[in-house]
Amino acid sequence: MRPTVDDDNPLAWQSDALCAQTDPEAFFPEKGGSTRDAKKICTGCEVRGDCLEYALGNDERFGIWGGLSERERRKLRKRAV
Ligand code: SF4
Repeated sequence: MRPTVDDDNPLAWQSDALCAQTDPEAFFPEKGGSTRDAKKICTGCEVRGDCLEYALGNDERFGIWGGLSERERRKLRKRAV
């Protein structure tokens, strides 16, 4: 049986993740690889805010989350302190 997705599920937003319908590799580029395609997809993603919040809250180190790269998220975190 599939788990129920509802508001109590902190990962419910992932069912609307646009990247799940695309090439996941674009979101985890090799070092120095292009992040442009992934970021473009994030721009049109409905759950971008939830995604970024999740990545910041869980200290996700790798990949593009909420349209931001690892370095951009680190900067954002520093600014928020
Ligand atoms: S914002 Fe980007 S990384 Fe996050 S769920 Fe949407 S498409 Fe995926």
